[in-house]
Amino acid sequence: MTVQEAENYVQAVLPDLGVNKRRELVRLVYEIAKRDGSSGPDILPAQKNLTFESAKKQLLARRYPVNFKTAAKDRFYLPKLELNPGLEADLTPREFYPKTVYIESSVLGSELAGRVREAFPKAEFKETDGKTQVGSPNFSQRLDTLLIHCEKYDFLKPCPCSCSAACCGYNLINLGFGCRFECEYCFLQQYQNLHAVLLPANLDEFLSKIDRASFRKGPFDRPRIGSGEFTDSLVFDDLTQYSQKIVPFFRKRPHLQFEFKTKSVNIGGLLKAGGCENVVVSWSVNSASVTDRAEHFTPGLSARLAAACEVARAGYRLGFHFDPVVIYDGWQQEYARTVQEMADTLPKERVAWISVGTLRFSRELKKMIENRFPQNTILDGEFLLDFDGKMRYGDTQRKDAYQFLLPLLRRSFPQAQVYLCMEDPQIVRSF
Ligand code: SF4
Repeated sequence: MTVQEAENYVQAVLPDLGVNKRRELVRLVYEIAKRDGSSGPDILPAQKNLTFESAKKQLLARRYPVNFKTAAKDRFYLPKLELNPGLEADLTPREFYPKTVYIESSVLGSELAGRVREAFPKAEFKETDGKTQVGSPNFSQRLDTLLIHCEKYDFLKPCPCSCSAACCGYNLINLGFGCRFECEYCFLQQYQNLHAVLLPANLDEFLSKIDRASFRKGPFDRPRIGSGEFTDSLVFDDLTQYSQKIVPFFRKRPHLQFEFKTKSVNIGGLLKAGGCENVVVSWSVNSASVTDRAEHFTPGLSARLAAACEVARAGYRLGFHFDPVVIYDGWQQEYARTVQEMADTLPKERVAWISVGTLRFSRELKKMIENRFPQNTILDGEFLLDFDGKMRYGDTQRKDAYQFLLPLLRRSFPQAQVYLCMEDPQIVRSF
């Protein structure tokens, strides 16, 4: 069903609604039709004496069968449905080859700028003073532009986590912005306002800040610092070669731990840098359905695990992030299969930590996902406005997910620290 068809149907069964009431019903009809593949008359049959209130009640009960009776009514988020086909993601496979490369004047002679010139000889190269706005108007064209810049301010910071969520004490080093993968749930598509890939050329300056910084460690034995917040830590590593400097740097600082967080298998740099006990290479993992349908262009689970085994053999420790866990029919069996494949494949004693977090997103990101991936299934679940203004599955579904996954992971990887990510402190305490 298209948005227009949903609007026409609501207009036909309740012709006299005001704008806001119509908007809510159109969204509900559209979301139910998308999830169930059903038609208007099946979703909301024409009825004698049908009112807005009775129609909304019927639609909410069908759209939110798990939460309808228990959730406060203001937790159902029903914004205007606006789909712009011009925003749809381009899912045609292509290599990363920017059309235009901007290099800031101050790093024209940097090693990174030199490597980029060699890697993309056919790109158009432009010098920039760092003040000119670069990038494409559309997020989907972000890979057309690469900006090599000199970071001046944003070096290290505590992970902002989520307002009021239980904090794991993570620390961030912002080595780049942008990613070549297309995960349907990625927050960058809503967060990144400069539609380009940004890579800093002054890695040494980032590292020079570390010894003077004070870091949180949360429930871990040592502070953890990671670079996978605004980019995938390894997806551009063949180009940036950041690993060549990061690994030796942390080898000399065993009181800290560095985490490369990735979905890629771009591990050549790590293997060349040699292993390091306090460097953890971690992979986001998911069920086969979520990886196949929602993590476009990423390597599958087996490839990720094969890469993990290789870096473990080289002397790194491993981490895994079950994030985001998506709830759908049969999710338990599929997630159990992922855990089983990990348990059958990985050297268990090398796994340092595993995090788990269910799918969550801001209201703005929901709109972006439905525009960029109109065929998505990840939004078909029951998401409610939650304690921090984000949208999450209701408490019962989240607790079910954690009750299923946490014991399984703790049994399978007894030496790993298994923890929840960006969760309500009350829920964290109960696990
Ligand atoms: S790998 Fe991470 S950064 Fe890249 S698209 Fe997926 S979620 Fe976003």
